[in-house]
Amino acid sequence: MGYPLEQFGSMAALEALLRQRICSICVDRNMDGTCSLNQRNDCALFDRFPRIVRSISRVNSEKIDDYVTAIREDVCADCINQALDGSCKLRDEVRCVLDRYLLLIIGVIEEAKRITLKQGKIVSLV
Ligand code: SF4
Ligand code: SF4
Repeated sequence: MGYPLEQFGSMAALEALLRQRICSICVDRNMDGTCSLNQRNDCALFDRFPRIVRSISRVNSEKIDDYVTAIREDVCADCINQALDGSCKLRDEVRCVLDRYLLLIIGVIEEAKRITLKQGKIVSLV
């Protein structure tokens, strides 16, 4: 059974956490901390952030493949970069931020979920 998106309390806080954790190690980040991608929708993580959180939240499994399947179904399926045969050039070339850091993204969201369940809100994951 999925975890209701609303239960995170603040999607803004969750997004801030992801920006802290992922942007800080992202290869598309400039030295000054800004993003080198020009358009917001060039970042596959923050362009469709609520959908990604919802997708990961509906999985309750110890198998990473189950999360990958959910992301492929919920996010990649209607992404303009995915071909009809399910392949994705950006994914193959490790240029999709979402795919490149998927394990870390899942870890942060699952951690936020556990803390929210325990404390009622995301206080800090640092
Ligand atoms: S591409 Fe996305 S994850 Fe990477 S630095 Fe830019 S906004 Fe952050
Ligand atoms: S892996 Fe490809 S299809 Fe999936 S979100 Fe990234 S760019 Fe889009």
